[in-house]
Amino acid sequence: MSETSEMAPFWKIWKWKLHWQILVGLVIGTLAGYLWARLAIANAPNGDAKLYLESNWFRLIAKTGGEIFLNALKLIVIPLVTSSIILAIASIAAKKGFARLGLKTLFYFLTTSTIAILLGLALVNWIQPGVMSDGKPLLNSEKVSQIQKDFSSESQRLADSAKLDQDKSGSTLLAKVLGIFKSLVPANPVKAAVDMDLLGLIVISIFVGYFLSFLDEPTRQTMESFWRGVNDISMMFTDFILKLAPLGVAMLLAHTIMDNYVSLAAEQRFGDLVESLKWFAITTLAGLLIHMFLILPAIVFVIAGIGPIRLFSAMMPALLTAFSTASSNATLSVTLDCCENRAGVSNDTTSFVVPLGATVNMNGTALYECVAAVFIVQLFGYQLDFATQFMIVLIALLTSIGVAGVPSASLVAIIIILNSVSKQLGEGVDLSGGLAILLILDRPLDMVRTAVNVFGDAAGAVLIAKTEGENPLASVKA
Ligand code: ASP
Repeated sequence: MSETSEMAPFWKIWKWKLHWQILVGLVIGTLAGYLWARLAIANAPNGDAKLYLESNWFRLIAKTGGEIFLNALKLIVIPLVTSSIILAIASIAAKKGFARLGLKTLFYFLTTSTIAILLGLALVNWIQPGVMSDGKPLLNSEKVSQIQKDFSSESQRLADSAKLDQDKSGSTLLAKVLGIFKSLVPANPVKAAVDMDLLGLIVISIFVGYFLSFLDEPTRQTMESFWRGVNDISMMFTDFILKLAPLGVAMLLAHTIMDNYVSLAAEQRFGDLVESLKWFAITTLAGLLIHMFLILPAIVFVIAGIGPIRLFSAMMPALLTAFSTASSNATLSVTLDCCENRAGVSNDTTSFVVPLGATVNMNGTALYECVAAVFIVQLFGYQLDFATQFMIVLIALLTSIGVAGVPSASLVAIIIILNSVSKQLGEGVDLSGGLAILLILDRPLDMVRTAVNVFGDAAGAVLIAKTEGENPLASVKA
């Protein structure tokens, strides 16, 4: 990716480094969204700011611009991921380092996700955001159904997809684990691409790359050239999209902040609940930030001897894109670009670790699932024994592997946890309605957890590259 000089005059913003430009877009989008939401609240006839904003010209322009940016990011994912993995595996298979790299990567993913979940569990048990000072449960069916009404379309969509999930995989933990294995082998590669089923596509690409390396010449050469062409074009496309990222991020955020601010303002009437949600947000953010700024950098520093500032500065465009889109999948092309071109991780390692990480390794999501599920249990006034907490940790780990890298994806996983905990707590207990509470704050927390998800993948790529004898981040100044 081409970077412009840092010495450019202050007012020549188009000459700034890309991550500063994206940051400016982020700030402008946030401010514009906030101010427009305030204006809407002040001017809406009948005080219904949501309705007023629905057909508002500025919101519509920002929404459309943001969606175009998101589409552009997403359309590049399938060709980029398949070609990168096929080429990487074809070259690694020839070097016979494949099994080692695979095991190392999975070990890193599982260890960091487990650390994130345990950190979340410790914080939510310590801060207890859902426990009132008088010890009475805060949530009752009346409050739940009022909030469900406010977020009716979203609640319905989630309830439907959770039901689908239950139908598909049954409700036992074994069925869920087996379900994840089954999703590794899609019956139709074209359908997997159409559905953006990345996990399935990654597995197919790994096999295609592996078998490609055994083809006779000149077929092998021809196939490799084809995939190399697809990959080069995809990378050029990514560079082009990245140039537009500051504008795309500004539009996306203006629209997101506007809609979420207006919804949040509508919930102010639930006094105690808002206080509790505030502590829930603090607990979640504390966990996510500790994981991203202390734990992961410490692991990278101890094992690879690489300082955090170099790592953050190389990954900044990917982190800002993750924050703005709340989607690891949409960010994938930018993450690949940053790892390879800014952090200097080899193409082979990047192409193997990062796409796999985007679907399998979700540290932020795993942490969030655990904190959110325990928070809802607390709101309903239940105590959790050790066995149930252990079950939550296990389901959070498994579902974080299965969760897709799209906005709000973890909410479906949280329903699965809540259903399992309800069963554990006894006949007639149903915690799943509590999910509606999470919708109020989901987007801002999703933005942060997605950035943590992406950072976890990048840290993994750098760490694994170092242990494979590479020298990533050597040329990035602290
Ligand atoms: N939005 C997250 C991601 O794409 C998934 C989630 O936690 O909802 O990484």
